[in-house]
Amino acid sequence: MKAPASDVIVVGGGIMGAATAFFLRKRGRSVTLLEQGLVGQQASGVNFGNVRRQGRFLPQLPLANRSRSIWGRLRELLGEDVEFLSTGHIRVCYRQEQVAVLEAYAKDASAYGLSLEIISQNALRARFPFLGPEVIAGSFSPNDGHANPRLAAPAFARAAAREGASIVENAEAKIIEKVGEDFAVSCVDGREFRAPVLLVSAGAWGNLLSSQFGEAVPLVARGPQMAVTEPAPYSIHPVLGVSTEVPDEVVYLRQIPRGNVVFGGGARGDAFPDIRRAYVKPQNTLAQLRQIRRIAPQLSQLHVIRVWSGIESYLPDDRPIMGASRRVSGLHYAFGFCGHGFQLGPGVGDVMAELIDTGTTSTPIEPFHIGRFAADPPAATIPSPPKIGVN
Ligand SMILES: Cc1cc2nc3c(=O)[nH]c(=O)nc-3n(C[C@H](O)[C@H](O)[C@H](O)COP(=O)(O)OP(=O)(O)OC[C@H]3O[C@@H](n4cnc5c(N)ncnc54)[C@H](O)[C@@H]3O)c2cc1C
Repeated sequence: MKAPASDVIVVGGGIMGAATAFFLRKRGRSVTLLEQGLVGQQASGVNFGNVRRQGRFLPQLPLANRSRSIWGRLRELLGEDVEFLSTGHIRVCYRQEQVAVLEAYAKDASAYGLSLEIISQNALRARFPFLGPEVIAGSFSPNDGHANPRLAAPAFARAAAREGASIVENAEAKIIEKVGEDFAVSCVDGREFRAPVLLVSAGAWGNLLSSQFGEAVPLVARGPQMAVTEPAPYSIHPVLGVSTEVPDEVVYLRQIPRGNVVFGGGARGDAFPDIRRAYVKPQNTLAQLRQIRRIAPQLSQLHVIRVWSGIESYLPDDRPIMGASRRVSGLHYAFGFCGHGFQLGPGVGDVMAELIDTGTTSTPIEPFHIGRFAADPPAATIPSPPKIGVN
């Protein structure tokens, strides 16, 4: 039997793959999305839900800005509510030297169109009375916010399907070969698909597929840890995070209008992509709770009702892999989002669809090219050391 053919095959139905499929249909390209489990079941569906731009690697801000503008239009674009709230995001700090870090970032970020307000202790406490006494300053990003990760990727996939995309769940792409002008994809259950263009958007599994084309990357999978409390009166509207050089102090939280407080941070647990599991370490949750008391003491009385983790992929320079393959024409990548991909998802989908459709992008993505991990990287993509992870 002849394998079904489309213009593009997308392998992986997280937010990157689902958003790309949607935007490809908007550009009139036929697309088949293959997902080994269910759409949005992995990192895209279990993350913290931060739609945060501040604190990012500066050259990533044009992509994050493009994504932020799509987040604001998602209800109209997808015809569904993914609970995106533009509540603002505050990064607070406990030490004077960190104030200088926040100020320097705010100055640099303004060149990328991101406006941040540095607020000192008394003004901060007056405006956000829930902050603890150790907090001495904060950087407020008024147009960042949060959304419900459980809803976002499936909403993109449903909208893509309504636009005519073929969304195939429980289809694990096992072998991908270039046969003539086409990619031939064989799934574990024997199904086959063909297309002249292929996007690997397979998250923590991306390296298994890029390796098949001689483009292995030093990706590791880890499990950031999250928890949620019982509901309490809705009083913390912005997303909160800590700016610090001390890894143990990293914590972030958001309250949803139903009252529950979602939080995460600190040490990451182990993740096992082969069995699709990431396990929670109770000591990490306890460490997060100690930090929550510092940032918002009023939360210390709340009961934790659920903890979880998810499988996320990290590269040594804390940047994703995005763009065209250096070795195989028609092959594209968007994976390895290093704990910051949820906010970027809509923008990545839009940019990857633009790249596939036109051969170029109006938003710069060169710093993320897979070639930076090749034996002979192009000068423009040589990585710099990672900064401490934030959310
Ligand atoms: C606990 C946690 C908290 C996080 N918090 C935030 C946050 O607050 N803000 C933020 O911006 N980012 C956050 N992130 C990061 C963010 O969730 C990810 O960067 C983003 O979701 C990655 O999307 P993705 O589509 O690349 O990957 P995924 O969501 O992992 O999707 C990849 C998909 O590919 C599928 N797949 C893999 N191999 C194959 C194959 N061979 N065939 C078919 N399908 C395949 C997988 O089943 C999976 O569904 C967090 C991550 C975690 C785990």
